[in-house]
Amino acid sequence: MGIFGGTFDPIHNGHLVIAEQVADVLGLERVIFVPSGVPPHKEFSSVKAPAEDRYAMVEAAVRGNERFVVDRIEVDAGRAMYSVETVPLLKERYEGDEWFFVSGADEVSNLLQWRDPDGFLAEARMVAATRPGYDISNLDHLAAELKNFDRIVPVECTRLDISATTIRRMVAEGKSVRYLVPEAVYETINDRGLYGEENGAPVDAREGSLSSEEDVS
Ligand code: ATP
Repeated sequence: MGIFGGTFDPIHNGHLVIAEQVADVLGLERVIFVPSGVPPHKEFSSVKAPAEDRYAMVEAAVRGNERFVVDRIEVDAGRAMYSVETVPLLKERYEGDEWFFVSGADEVSNLLQWRDPDGFLAEARMVAATRPGYDISNLDHLAAELKNFDRIVPVECTRLDISATTIRRMVAEGKSVRYLVPEAVYETINDRGLYGEENGAPVDAREGSLSSEEDVS
């Protein structure tokens, strides 16, 4: 079983390629995409699209891939959830013997900033998928600090130099992001007017959005 957590603001083909290739290499039966409600690792004001829009884009993106599902656990929580807390809850919700948390190499390098990284690694092995600009062969700073360092699994994937930040910037500049995201995501961005200049304000500045005041501890 694979768990793929992220802000997905928006989900893009870089995410889908690592999910598919990691599932293939490790023989995963299922990859559960878990869009965050309030991401604990990012400055809240940097999240542009409301959680429901990010969830809808993930749902649209995974449709048609029978190995991929989306879970609302973090969107429904309405507060920041740490992976060390989410993973055990997902393990109760879905059946599976072996659990992997899929992430890009940049995220893995940051693991010491996560809440209880050793506890998290005890719950699931962490996949370090290759990402342009990040070196997975150099995780020595983690080896020195983590008891469960050997539960990090590097997986070589096709490197796509796509980030959600670039996509948001391109949309705001009026450039086409077609083919960087699945067609259904491209349509959702256009139909809902996401990431345009007028919607460039952070979600907490808009009506009906989650408040940045909420407890993130
Ligand atoms: P942003 O640019 O807003 O920071 P992002 O593109 O990094 O977003 P996230 O939703 O933060 O996307 O990422 C979720 C996970 O997917 C993270 O583990 C990240 O490392 C990984 N990831 C994102 N894009 C790629 C990519 N192009 N190649 C490999 N891994 C990726």
